[in-house]
Amino acid sequence: MNERLADTRNRPLRDLRLSVTDRCNFRCTYCMPREVFGADFRFLPREELLTFEEITRLAGIFAGLGVEKIRLTGGEPLLRRNLPTLVAMLAAVPGIRDLTLTTNGSLLAAQAGALRAAGLHRVTVSLDSLDDDVFAAMNDVGFPVARVLAGIEAARAAGFRPLKINMVVKRGVNEDSILPMARQFRGADFALRFIEYMDVGNTNGWRMNDVVPAAEIIARIAAEMPLETVPQSYRGEVARRYRHVAGGGEIGVISSVTEPFCGDCTRARVSSEGRLYTCLFATDGTDLRALLRGGAGDRAIAEAITRVWRGRGDRYSELRSANTTALPKVEMSRIGG
Ligand code: SAM
Ligand code: SF4
Ligand code: SF4
Repeated sequence: MNERLADTRNRPLRDLRLSVTDRCNFRCTYCMPREVFGADFRFLPREELLTFEEITRLAGIFAGLGVEKIRLTGGEPLLRRNLPTLVAMLAAVPGIRDLTLTTNGSLLAAQAGALRAAGLHRVTVSLDSLDDDVFAAMNDVGFPVARVLAGIEAARAAGFRPLKINMVVKRGVNEDSILPMARQFRGADFALRFIEYMDVGNTNGWRMNDVVPAAEIIARIAAEMPLETVPQSYRGEVARRYRHVAGGGEIGVISSVTEPFCGDCTRARVSSEGRLYTCLFATDGTDLRALLRGGAGDRAIAEAITRVWRGRGDRYSELRSANTTALPKVEMSRIGG
C-alpha cells in the first residue's frame, strides 16, 4: 500500500465512491429533475458501463493506493442487474475494510438478504419525509413512504445495524419532516443523517435560500430531544455527530454548504462509465475506461490515478460563491453523491 499518496493539500486517498448506473427510478427534484431527465433523456447504453470485472479490477488498484472504503452508489444502484454478484467480488478485494451501499430503498426489500449474504457491510437508505405527499413531491414519481420503510425493515432484519438514513432538507419543502424523522429513527438500530441541500450539477436550480443550515436542524431537534456531541471518529468523517441523551441512537448533520469540510476530503469518485472525479463539484473527469479497455496494465492505471490525485487541489465548498455555483459541473446522478 502506498501510504504517502497525498494531494496538493496533503489529503490521502482513502474512500472510493463507485457509481454502478446512471439510471434511477426516482426523479428527485434536487438531483434528477424530470424537466431534464425526461422521456427523451439518453442514459448510457450498457456497453458504456464498466463491467463487474472492470470495476473489481479498479477497486484492487485503488486499494493498492490506500483506499479502504468503497461505497456503491448511482443513480439507483439496485437497478444494476445482479448487484450482489459485484458485492461478492468487491468483498474479496484485499484491503477493503468497509463495503457500503447508498440506495433510495425502493428495491431493497427484495434484495437486502442477498446483499448481506454477498458480504456487504453497511447500507444507507435515503428518505426525505414520512409524509406521503411531501415524499411523493420530492421523488416526483409518487413513490410511497411505506415501501421504503419496508426496505429499511428488510435491511434491518438482514442484519444491517445500525442502518444509516439520509434525509436531504430543503427549505419550505420538507423541513416539517425533520422532527417526525428524528422521532421515527431514534434508537440504536439507526443513525439518521440530515444533509444540507447542495448545488450539485447544473439542473436543480439551487439557491442559498433553499438551504436549511445544519445548526438550525440540530437546534430544532435538541429543543425536543436532548443531544450530546460525539467526537469525530476518523479523519474524513463528513457528518457532525450527536447522540440522544435518552433512549440511545445517533443523528448527524452533513453541513457541506454552511461549514464545508474540504480539508478532510479523502474521496475519489468513479462514474458508471469509468471516469475518475476528485470532487463532487468537478467539471471534468479522467477516463479510466479507456485505459482498462486499451490494454493498460495495473501499474499504468495506478500511475494515472496517482498523477490525478497528486495534482488534486479541490475545495469547491470552501470557495463556493456566486461565481462557482454558475460553473458547469458533473451531475450528481452520474457520480452518486
Ligand atoms: N439513488 C441513491 C439514493 O438516493 O440514495 C444513491 C445515489 S444519490 C445521488 C446519493 C445521495 O445523494 C442521496 O442520499 C441523495 O439524497 C443525495 N443527494 C442528491 N442530490 C443532492 C443535493 N442536491 N444535495 C444534497 N444531497 C443530494
Ligand atoms: Fe435517484 Fe438517488 Fe438522485 Fe433521488 S437522489 S434521483 S433516488 S439518484
Ligand atoms: Fe470534497 Fe469537493 Fe466536497 Fe470539498 S467540495 S468536500 S473537495 S467533494
